[in-house]
Amino acid sequence: MALVIIIAIIVLIVMKHKGVFRKTAVCRHCGKVLKGTEQVVMGAGASQYILCRDCAAKISPVIFDEASADWSYEDYADYLVWEEETKEERAQFHETDSYGFETKLAVDADHGLFSLMTEGNRQVFRFADLTDYTINFKEEVVDDGLLESKVLGKEYISVDLVRPKVYLERVLNAAAGYSTTPKGRINRKYEYDLTDAFEHIIKVFDVCFLSNSSAGRMRTARASTARRSTTFRRPWPSSCSTA
Ligand SMILES: [Zn+2]
Repeated sequence: MALVIIIAIIVLIVMKHKGVFRKTAVCRHCGKVLKGTEQVVMGAGASQYILCRDCAAKISPVIFDEASADWSYEDYADYLVWEEETKEERAQFHETDSYGFETKLAVDADHGLFSLMTEGNRQVFRFADLTDYTINFKEEVVDDGLLESKVLGKEYISVDLVRPKVYLERVLNAAAGYSTTPKGRINRKYEYDLTDAFEHIIKVFDVCFLSNSSAGRMRTARASTARRSTTFRRPWPSSCSTA
């Protein structure tokens, strides 16, 4: 009897040493027992948890990097609820305006929706879930020419959403260029010209945000008045008037 116990202990020690126990985990969401290669580690620090590949795949590829880095399990569970609750609403999405090359930003002014699309993956969001955003130009390269200076940079969007709980920053156009600065003003603040198309999508986004988001309605037209006004070739969005 003692021999059996000793052998059992030795076997357990060997198994532990070989990592048999360490390598298995349970998916926090569905309870499936997982080997090392099947595990997707989510979150950071004390709130870290494991999902199986199927449960991790329920997260849109568009937001996966941010979600896997920041979400607690409660955030993940709330995302699944949000997905289900807003499925029909978001399925109505049809594009009324769009802009962007690296990432395509599309707006559905009729339904108060917008989407971000990268590498063929589209995720639709609700303006009602948006608390803050920036659509702007970031200067990155200054080409100081003979008579004038050229400013190069990126047009980008950042969005802060309550549901899904995520902050995203994406490049819309990586090769935006402006060459309107006279030589000698190289260290001054640039008055670059926005293209009509870029300015239009900013305006459309402002209008939809202000009319659909509770945060937007409270902030009044701060976002709009901060930008230079120009004449738009295309009409204003017809809707975006109901929450
Ligand atoms: Zn699972």
